[in-house]
Amino acid sequence: MHFIDLEAQYKHLQNKIDARIKTVLEHGQYIMGPEVRELEQQLADYVGVKHVISCANGTDALTLSLMTLGIEENDAVFCPTFTFFATAEVISYAGATPVFVDSDEDTFNICPVHLEKQIKSVIEQGLYTPKAIIAVDLFGLPANYPELERIAEEYGLKLIEDAAQGFGGAINSRRAGSFGDIATTSFFPAKPLGCYGDGGAIFTNSDEYAELLRSYRVHGKGKDKYDNVRIGMNSRLDTIQAAILLEKLAAFPEELENRNKAAQRYEEQLSGKFKTPKVPSGYLSSWAQYTLVSDNRESDMQAYKAQGVPTMIYYGTCMHQQSAFAELGYEDKDFPVATKLAQSVFSLPMHGYL
Ligand SMILES: *Cc1c(COP(=O)(O)O)cnc(C)c1O
Repeated sequence: MHFIDLEAQYKHLQNKIDARIKTVLEHGQYIMGPEVRELEQQLADYVGVKHVISCANGTDALTLSLMTLGIEENDAVFCPTFTFFATAEVISYAGATPVFVDSDEDTFNICPVHLEKQIKSVIEQGLYTPKAIIAVDLFGLPANYPELERIAEEYGLKLIEDAAQGFGGAINSRRAGSFGDIATTSFFPAKPLGCYGDGGAIFTNSDEYAELLRSYRVHGKGKDKYDNVRIGMNSRLDTIQAAILLEKLAAFPEELENRNKAAQRYEEQLSGKFKTPKVPSGYLSSWAQYTLVSDNRESDMQAYKAQGVPTMIYYGTCMHQQSAFAELGYEDKDFPVATKLAQSVFSLPMHGYL
């Protein structure tokens, strides 16, 4: 049994994916070929946003977003402490200061109550200017955007949705990738929508941001890439990866349904034994991970292993516990919920062919 069965997916889609790759090899437009534009249009239609800008990976998607929002030194950017490193890393990479926020006990997502506390404390200290929030759709469940949008508005902050794990999720009829000022995703192979290498995308309804993003991703280009009007980077999605993603996106709605069916069966059979993931009413998860909370994590994981069921820990280390952020001076007691989660979560196999 695989934790994520990319092999089963490839077998299911092999003829279509092989044909798409062959088309690219034949037309030879490996960089920004027609499949890239086709994919961007289809992603925009699926998510329901005006602009999609593909790029090289989910980390770059976040970095390009911070560049576009003008985040720089002396700015504070708020993000959850219980997330993948990239969410926080890009804030420091931009020269700004990450301010970590504890998790909601039931959804594992950024806690709006603690977020507001952290914003007030940064304002009080007066060292940094609060500028933005990066919320994460952890394990596939959209963060509490109704509340986050209210807080962003109240304090004049920009809101970024890190939907690297959340693609396919929704709150009522609004899909992940459509929340906040800018949203990002990753096409790393293990994500809900993954390619066969690195890839990422940025979503926005703002014409102004879209134009800046398209410039930043190709060396700060003006009218073309030899006319450079700002300092940017080189972060494009390969045409071959776009071609693969076009076939994977076509199969995605069915896979998403299968993931939700699998989660339903897990819930039915495990809810008496573990704290199982809660999906709030009106929310849809893309189930990037199916994550249990256990007081006996080690022995539970061993028991699954003995039955041939692979398990993984996402995440055993919070951002405030990472050596790279030691200088920020946080302690475990600043984030009691996240610290407990890092000690007690583990994830079961989850994919569209389970
Ligand atoms: C995977 C991931 C990223 C980074 O995506 P890459 O494509 O690997 O750069 C960012 N944020 C979260 C929450 C992720 O899970």
